[in-house]
Amino acid sequence: MAVKSGLTLPVILPPSRRMSDAVRDTLRRPLASLRLSVTDRCNLRCRYCMPEDEYVWLPRTSILSFEEIDRLTSVFTGLGVQKVRLTGGEPLLRHDLPTLVAKIARNPRVNDLAMTTNGLLLGKQAAALRAAGLQRVTVSLDTLRPERMLAFAKSARHADVLEGITAAQQAGFDRLKLNAVVIRGFNDDELADLIEFARAHAAEVRFIEYMDVGGATRWSPDQVVSQREMLDVLARRYGAIEPMHATGDDDRAPAERFRLGDGTTFGIIASVTAPFCRTCDRSRITADGTWFLCLYARAGVDLRERLRHGVSDDELATLIRETWQGRTDRGAEERLGVADRGALYRIDSLRADPHREMHTRGG
Ligand code: SAM
Repeated sequence: MAVKSGLTLPVILPPSRRMSDAVRDTLRRPLASLRLSVTDRCNLRCRYCMPEDEYVWLPRTSILSFEEIDRLTSVFTGLGVQKVRLTGGEPLLRHDLPTLVAKIARNPRVNDLAMTTNGLLLGKQAAALRAAGLQRVTVSLDTLRPERMLAFAKSARHADVLEGITAAQQAGFDRLKLNAVVIRGFNDDELADLIEFARAHAAEVRFIEYMDVGGATRWSPDQVVSQREMLDVLARRYGAIEPMHATGDDDRAPAERFRLGDGTTFGIIASVTAPFCRTCDRSRITADGTWFLCLYARAGVDLRERLRHGVSDDELATLIRETWQGRTDRGAEERLGVADRGALYRIDSLRADPHREMHTRGG
């Protein structure tokens, strides 16, 4: 409610678009969900994402300002996007992130504003992010064992991640989620421990199949623990596991959700063995304003240069609408058909074009 001269006036918001109005691609998938990578930098070196010590970084001058990100977000929401997720790199390395959150939160068409983070800096920032209008947080937590994190992500700061999770809980975010990439021989013996940890922290864990994208240059099929295998392991421990039927917001979500006998829920993102391209409504903007229509896409659309050379919002909207209407991408499904599948890129190819990196595109 807005208060003016002692009167309380209702704030009139534009009606949020119905899904039927949304811009759709060639497979009738709506333009509905936008991932904004706010930096390509990260303070972890996870083996499956960013294993090298040094990288070819995006030039600093190419990084979008908060005003540019906000403007792009408004154009996308004018075309039907309702869900926005901040990611990276590590989004909390971007200076003054609550200011960006507050700008996006003011956009009445955004009805779900979330962030994916490794949690290292969340302890200090959770309350400010919540106050700025961030609604949901997903924290990546692959292991409960500090020594494993040290070996796998080259970081001794496991305690900071746990502190970040506690701070997120206390800050009152809706539906706290924990992401765990499951890799054979690394953390596949921790599935039940992660479920128990999530339950104790009023969170829901989502197990992610190890993908062959971007910086996963050491990927091989034998390291992937499939959804089927995870469910078998968990059923041996917990008994019958019931699949939950997707409703409303969940029907395009990447995770399939399951319920244990005692009501505890968890999700599995089976991007490798059961890809969900058919319902994928996501696209991604890198920190330098390159728009990717698929995590596996070879090239993206440069929005930054257009922004910086005086393009109007209408012109941007036309470009985005027409590009989305021509979208045919089914990257993960096409990978299923590749014989002798190995990592998508080798390190020299990533160095030649850092836009191929997962930490640039945002996971
Ligand atoms: N730094 C933040 C974080 O750690 O959550 C956000 C960026 S990170 C690229 C986003 C998500 O992508 C994380 O949950 C991460 O585990 C996931 N991810 C990165 N590489 C992956 C891979 N090869 N397979 C599956 N998931 C991956």
